[in-house]
Amino acid sequence: MYGDKYNFSFINGEKVQLAATSEVINPATGEVIGIVPDGGEELTRRAIDAAAQAFPAWSKRTAGQRASYLLDWAERVLADKEALAQLLSLEQGKPLDEARGEIEGVAVYIRWYAEEGKRAYGEIIPASRPGQQLLVFREAIGVVGLITPANFPAAILAMKVAPALAAGCSFVLKPAEQTPMIAVALVSHLLATGLPAGVANLVTGDPAEIGSTLQADPRVRKIAFTGSTAVGKILMRQAAENVQRLTLELGGNAPVVVFPDADLDKAVDGIMGNKFENCGQVCNGINLIYAHEDIHQALVEKLAERIKALKVAHGTEPGCHIGPMIDPSYLDKVETLVNDAVEKGAKVVTGGYRIMEDGYQDGYFYAPTLLDGVHADMELTRREIFGPVAPVLTFTDEADVLRRCNDTPYGLAGYVYTRDAARMFRMIAGLQVGNLAINGTSLANPQTPFGGVKESGIGRVGGHQGLEEYMELKYVALTLE
Ligand code: ADP
Repeated sequence: MYGDKYNFSFINGEKVQLAATSEVINPATGEVIGIVPDGGEELTRRAIDAAAQAFPAWSKRTAGQRASYLLDWAERVLADKEALAQLLSLEQGKPLDEARGEIEGVAVYIRWYAEEGKRAYGEIIPASRPGQQLLVFREAIGVVGLITPANFPAAILAMKVAPALAAGCSFVLKPAEQTPMIAVALVSHLLATGLPAGVANLVTGDPAEIGSTLQADPRVRKIAFTGSTAVGKILMRQAAENVQRLTLELGGNAPVVVFPDADLDKAVDGIMGNKFENCGQVCNGINLIYAHEDIHQALVEKLAERIKALKVAHGTEPGCHIGPMIDPSYLDKVETLVNDAVEKGAKVVTGGYRIMEDGYQDGYFYAPTLLDGVHADMELTRREIFGPVAPVLTFTDEADVLRRCNDTPYGLAGYVYTRDAARMFRMIAGLQVGNLAINGTSLANPQTPFGGVKESGIGRVGGHQGLEEYMELKYVALTLE
């Protein structure tokens, strides 16, 4: 469908093609819709060379000059919104409306960091000795490697590229192998702004080879990664070699706790909006629903009614709520986890199967699913489901549900529904997560520091904290006399 249209990497501002290519698959049909270069060590090294050469001049530009490229980029992305959303929906599978929202979100993040780059203030600290000034400068960290995932391949790209450029870094970007074309399209728009050659480089190909080349090179001062905890741990080990900085946004096991005093309809709206967005492939997506015994039955009934009404379709079909999963391995995992839960006594209220009807059998579709009677022996309480499956557990006691929510190596997000203010604060204090929403399930804003605790990550994306991830401090003791 896209043929050769996105079959290139970007090195030093130029399109580069390779004899070796990888196919890009439409997850709704299993069909090949395009190809991209299958790069590795050599291509990555050329990209690092270009980024290293471009860094000094780029980092010396004023924040205002850098912002003008970013703002131009946002304009260009919005002007091409419809075509980008189509590409995103076809390549990744998500409903077209969600794809449009994601492209709008790209512009929101770019614009926010264009402005925030102007506020990377230093500090002057009162000295201990007469005649001295203690100064703290903020400097761009250097060349950065950006590794993005397949679930939000446009938004997460912007969440890394925008602060990196605003801070004065040059970069080498490696998109996920399932969704490289939307990255090529977005970086094309970035280069069309006239960005100096070598500031933005993009390589596609073998993840491990590109990753280890980025990490073995002492010129690459930082890796910003969003993806699985397993890969995050590999990157941490490899970062030790050159004491490379890391920002890691990793897996989660987010609970939503619905107390008996909650506004149930609001809770159902929030759970539906979060759990089934992007076919459940959201890092801060709800993994487990803890319903208080008193409202459990009512919550399950309301959720069942809403889940049964979800329309499963190809992402580009009008009215689609649930598209295919991005990758067959994600589908296999969901099937395995649901089967394990059912074998151990979970009740399937709706869904619970892979969709094999005509028109869907070659894609990676799983029916939106509600499981009741879920308990801690089931594998899906410990692993990130990352699919359209809502498991319901019951609880009676606040302290007990807190303990169960925290009984995981992950600590990305949590959600609580209650109208009791004292309970809200106990939950805020008690939940071991980096991000918490109360009486809502939406966390994404450019101005807030999103990130995980425990094995869910290191560092923050968004906010001034997200800009600081791309900067180093330089402290200067200046004696004047
Ligand atoms: P998921 O399990 O959600 O697919 P992954 O962690 O496998 O997430 O992938 C997220 C990103 O990390 C993708 O761009 C992928 O290509 C990349 N990746 C996978 N393995 C490695 C590796 N060994 N080194 C560097 N990047 C990797």
